[in-house]
Amino acid sequence: MAKSLAVLTSGGDAPGMNAAVRAVVRAGINSGFQVYGVFKGYNGLLNHDVKEMGLRSVSDILSRGGTILYTARSKKFVQVEYQKQAADYCRSLGIEGLVVIGGDGSFRGARALTNQGIPCVAIPGTIDNDIACTDYTIGFDTAMNTAVEMIDKIRDTAQSHDRCSVVEVMGRHCGDIALETGIAVGATSIIVPEVEYDLERDVITRIYEQKDTGKKHFIVIVAEGVGGSQEISHYIQHRTGIETRATILGHVQRGGSPTLRDRVMATKMGVAAVDLLAKGIGNRVIASHAGKIVDYDITEALDMPRQFNKDLYDIAMKVSI
Ligand code: ATP
Repeated sequence: MAKSLAVLTSGGDAPGMNAAVRAVVRAGINSGFQVYGVFKGYNGLLNHDVKEMGLRSVSDILSRGGTILYTARSKKFVQVEYQKQAADYCRSLGIEGLVVIGGDGSFRGARALTNQGIPCVAIPGTIDNDIACTDYTIGFDTAMNTAVEMIDKIRDTAQSHDRCSVVEVMGRHCGDIALETGIAVGATSIIVPEVEYDLERDVITRIYEQKDTGKKHFIVIVAEGVGGSQEISHYIQHRTGIETRATILGHVQRGGSPTLRDRVMATKMGVAAVDLLAKGIGNRVIASHAGKIVDYDITEALDMPRQFNKDLYDIAMKVSI
């Protein structure tokens, strides 16, 4: 039986996942492996939904959002009996290693399968940038660029009507998308879950101060993890008399053609994952640290505390005056 690797995408989709799949398939074949694509996350291993991938089966996907392997959340796979079943199925195909592209829940699945004898290497793929062990997750840059494009459009209309726009961006419990997007669009206030906030101090006072210097339209960015953008919008209108509208950008941030940064990062991470598996090393997470691709033990990675970039937040506040 030919030595084989497999690749799957799991959890929420993110632009750039396809670029990572392509890198794994091509680097795997380059290293002498037969490579299988597993469909719909861990479910594919339970439903035997796999397909052998060739060099050309990943052609023309580098620029496509979403994931050609589809993704899913598998309730069954959390149970050990199904993890054993999945490992047996991998062995029946001669699969000696699996690359899992997803968020930290998917990393737990990768650790579980490694414990059942199939070495797994995880790649952080989520727009949220909410994974502690890495400076960067695949999809983050594309999501932010989409948000910036949308907010620039909202600004045009806010400017024409002297309005305030409250825009809620994604990121779940992580404020990174809100922070960087807020800087890029020149937001008056950026409200993130990592920094305690007070609407009077951090929004209303800032609006009044900026109004006094001649500013007439305002953008307030609210992270998904804070939420309540509609209520915040009503509050601003009530307190300032400025017409205020709330927009929740939503899933538009999850789609679209990945940016250069996501394509390059996904390619580097995909190749690094295959390099580890080719050496028989599993139970690792690929990460980006200070501009370098590194890897960590999955448990160690899951236990790391996430650091919010407070320095960047302070920079944002210094210039949005
Ligand atoms: P996102 O950040 O986009 O939500 P995620 O990978 O964190 O991605 P989850 O739904 O948490 O998304 O996890 C994806 C899948 O990983 C789950 O549906 C399940 O199949 C598997 N998984 C999660 N936790 C475990 C666990 N403790 N043991 C085994 N498998 C798990």
